[in-house]
Formats: sequence, structure tokens, C-alpha cells
Amino acid sequence: MAAPRDWLGTVEAEGIAGRQGSSGVEVVFPSDPATPAPLCPHGPTLLFVKVNQGKEETRRFYACSACRDRKDCNFFQWEDEKLSGARLAAREAHNQKCQPPLSRTQCVERYVKFIELPLSQRKFCQGCQQLLLPDDWERHQEHRVVGDISVTQLKRPSQLLYPLENKKTNAQYLFTDRSCQFLVDLLSTLGFTRVLCVGTPRLHELIRLKASGEKKSNIKSLLLDIDFRYSQFYMEDSFCHYNMFNHHFFDGKAALEVCRTFLQEDKGEGVIMVTDPPFGGLVEPLAVTFKKLIAMWKEGQSQDSNQKELPIFWIFPYFFEFRIRQFFPSFCMLDYQRFHRTFICVDEAMKYGCMLEVDYDNHALYKHGKTGRKQSPVRIFTNIPPNKIILPSEEGYRFCPLCQRYVSLENQHCEHCNSCTSKDGRKWNHCFLCKKCVKPSWIHCSICSHCALPDHSCGGPKDGCFICGELDHKRSTCPKIATSKKVNNTLFFRAVRKQKQRKSNKMKMGTTKGQSMNHTSVTRKKSRRERAHQYLCS
Ligand code: SAH
Ligand code: ZN
Ligand code: ZN
Ligand code: ZN
Ligand code: ZN
Repeated sequence: MAAPRDWLGTVEAEGIAGRQGSSGVEVVFPSDPATPAPLCPHGPTLLFVKVNQGKEETRRFYACSACRDRKDCNFFQWEDEKLSGARLAAREAHNQKCQPPLSRTQCVERYVKFIELPLSQRKFCQGCQQLLLPDDWERHQEHRVVGDISVTQLKRPSQLLYPLENKKTNAQYLFTDRSCQFLVDLLSTLGFTRVLCVGTPRLHELIRLKASGEKKSNIKSLLLDIDFRYSQFYMEDSFCHYNMFNHHFFDGKAALEVCRTFLQEDKGEGVIMVTDPPFGGLVEPLAVTFKKLIAMWKEGQSQDSNQKELPIFWIFPYFFEFRIRQFFPSFCMLDYQRFHRTFICVDEAMKYGCMLEVDYDNHALYKHGKTGRKQSPVRIFTNIPPNKIILPSEEGYRFCPLCQRYVSLENQHCEHCNSCTSKDGRKWNHCFLCKKCVKPSWIHCSICSHCALPDHSCGGPKDGCFICGELDHKRSTCPKIATSKKVNNTLFFRAVRKQKQRKSNKMKMGTTKGQSMNHTSVTRKKSRRERAHQYLCS
């Protein structure tokens, strides 16, 4: 059956605060779940609901928390579906089969053996993405194997491994050295001694490199990541195989304890969490997870430090500001914009057998539009007071005494908004009709009664409620929704599809009867996606 979900394209969609289309999928967090969520290979699944404007919510279903593509995990179960014993057993067996072939302990044992080998015997199979011990060589004879793996290479696994995710777009979002260096320097200036890296393998790497370098820093780091390949390079106390969308530790209680000990060491003093989740991910499950990590840290606090918050850096695109602040009102978005990520050319890497890393700055693909404006929408969201975070003046940042934060050169203080309002490094203009600052490319539209791109189509999607279309509330608080069905914590994301998938859907539609999506909704989705793109790039 066609499950009504697709995370691709939600990147832009969710972040455009409130700009909802007419259909979408929400995650539901029932306040008192009657039954625990069923498990997929990636831990507990999440409960989703498909919503259509003007209709009550439809049947709810469970699907994988981590995989945005059904090709990667096709778990699907209606909320009220009863499974036979045989099917449950088959699922259990499937979940087992999907777990990594080696246990965490086995990985560590292999690693210890590997570093004891002489350089000439240290091999890495690029095809299998695996460090090889002499016993393995034969099995990888036909594969692309690189030899002489140095200690330096072992310390930089993110350069040795191929980017796993985003194969479709040929890019994994690793920090460039400069961005990573900026972060490490910042963490050290702020006096942190422990960093919980959630989905930041390259930051983890650099912190550890510094800790073992000549000018030793004393910062410790623990990496939590779903990319199991990293377990080959780290001991148990510095890597946990983890799913940040459901707070699932793949190696059970032992791994959870590693994380707890790390957070609670020194009564929780000196620790910060830094996370850089995939953009396509949903904000609410992430927020729920981060609150669990915060709670874990809090347990280790002494009574008198009750008011304190776990310091967090959440690296995410600026257009998610509204969503993030819904869950973490104390968070503020820093103006640091030269926060680039490495663009890895997978095709070229395959061709040349090595990684070619390109700084966004230098990559033609990321020189946007005619102006060649270098656009990185990535920002740091944090609960650390922004006046403590000094942004480099050599890169044009200055301190705004009124806002008590560092802002980029063109970001001018608006006396009407009483704030430095630009979000994207350009000077924004104040619109007296909208009573706020808007992007320089926008003009006030009297038909829409708000500012928009000059060539927008008037009367586009409004911020209204999914059920009745009224503008003053959202679906979850709609008076027309049956009380029993009301969900207390919902999160919206639009099912905007990638062009390719749209095409394949169109094709399927020709042959499959009863496909729920008709032609008009496909074109609507297309134009919505284009609007989203236009919005981001305008
Ligand atoms: N900029 C970061 C990397 C961010 S890419 C750096 O350079 O260190 C996103 C990271 O999140 C990847 O390492 C990926 O493996 C990880 N990730 C993706 N989905 C995840 C999930 N569900 N749980 C935990 N980590 C995940
Ligand atoms: Zn799954
Ligand atoms: Zn200001
Ligand atoms: Zn203004
Ligand atoms: Zn306006």
C-alpha cells in the first residue's frame, strides 16, 4: 500500500513558519500512549497522521523515525492494526537481521588489533567501508582496497568513509575545516570540557585530534550517530550507535550508561551538546529527544544548580527558527553565516578513488543565482547568551549593543523593530504596512496584504488551519476537530515531493487504481515546492 509519507522536500517546507499547504503528514505524540510503538530496525517507530484540508484526520499509522525514504526502511503499520503472531515473529527476525553484523564489543576488539598491525598490513575496503584484518583480506580480493592506513587517517574516519546519506544529491553535510575549527575554538573559549556530539562526526574528530595534538586541549567528546561505520574507529566510551529521532541506543543499556556517565560527570559541569541533524528531519521528534538528553543531564545536577540549562548548539537552517523556538523559547539564533559544509563529489570520488572535498565557498553549485551570492542557510541556535559568543571581526561581524549580540556587517539595527532583523546577511528593509523588516527582494503586495516576491502568485497558501481554513488557529486546536481525535502535540510537515518521485507517481497513477493522489494534487505539490524554493532563494 502507498503510505502517505515522504520526508524528502520537507526541508524547506516545515521551516517556512506556518505557510501550510492543503495536505500533509504530522507526527503525533499521544500524551498517554495506550501501547508502546512497534519497533523497526531503527528502534521505536513514530506515529503519523495524514491530514487534508477540510477533512478530519485520517487513520493514524506507525512508520520509521529515521528513514526519509521508504527504500531504506519500509516499516508501515496502521495504529489499530492487529498483527498475527507469525507476522510479529517475522518482523522480529527482520529487525534482528538488519542489525550490524558485528557487536560493539567485537568492533572495539577489531580496532585494537588493527592499530597493532604494521602500516603495510593496515587495509581498508572502500567497497565494504570496512577496516580489514589479515583474515579478511581474501574475501575482499576483488574489491577496491586501499593500504597503508596511517594513524592520521584512522583519526579522521569522516575522510576515509564515503558519505552514506543523501546519495541522491551527492552531498553529505560535513563541516569544512574552517567551520569546524571555528566551532572548536568557540567551545574552548567558552570553557567547555566535554562535548556531546549528536550527529557531528567531524566535530568529534577535530576535538579528539586537538586533544591528542601538540598543543593539547583538554576537551573530551562523545559521538552519538546513526552511522554505524564509525564504530570501527572508536572505543565504547567515545561512540554510541544512536538514533536521534527516537532517542534509541542500538546497543542497549550499556550504551545509554556511557551517555549518562558522560553527561553527569563533574556534576554536569562543563558539558555542552552540539547537534547538526539532517535537515529533512522533523523538528518535534528532535526536540523530544533533546529534552530527554537534557533530563538525563539534569539528574546529575546538585540541588542548588536547579535553574541551570544544559548548554546546546543546534545547527540548523535559519528558516527553522520559528519551529525551534516553539520548543525551546530560550534559544536564540546566532548570525554566524560563514558556516559552510563540505561538498563531497561522490561521482568524482568513485572515479579517482579518493574524496574530493570542496568548500561551499569555492563550489560553483553553491554560488547562487546571478549575483553569485554565497548562500549558506545554516545557523547556530543556542541557549548560551549571545553576547558571550564573539563572532570574528575579520569576517565582518560587529557587536550590536542594543541587541547585545554579534551580527554580520550588513545586518543593520532597525529602529522600528528595535532589532537587527536580517536573517540572511543582506540588509533587510522595514515595511511599515507589514510592521516588520522584510527581504530586500520583496515588495508589499496590496492584494495579499503582505510583502512577497514581485512575481508571486496572489492568494497563494495562507497560514490557516488545515481543517477549516481559518487563519487564527492551527489544525491541532481547531474547534471543528472531534475532541476524541484531538492530538495534543502535533507537528506539521508537508508532503512535498522531489521531482523524480513526482514523475514516478504520475507514471504509477496511470496504472494503479485507487491511488489517492490525483493529478491536481501533484501539480499543486509541484508549485508549492517551487514556491518553497523561491522563498528560500529570494
Ligand atoms: N556537519 C556534521 C555532520 C552533519 S551530517 C559534521 O561535519 O560533523 C548529519 C549527521 O547526522 C551524519 O553524521 C548522520 O550520520 C547523522 N544522522 C542522520 N540521521 C541520524 C539519526 N536518525 N540519528 C543519529 N544521527 C543521524
Ligand atoms: Zn526503520
Ligand atoms: Zn541590533
Ligand atoms: Zn524593521
Ligand atoms: Zn509589507
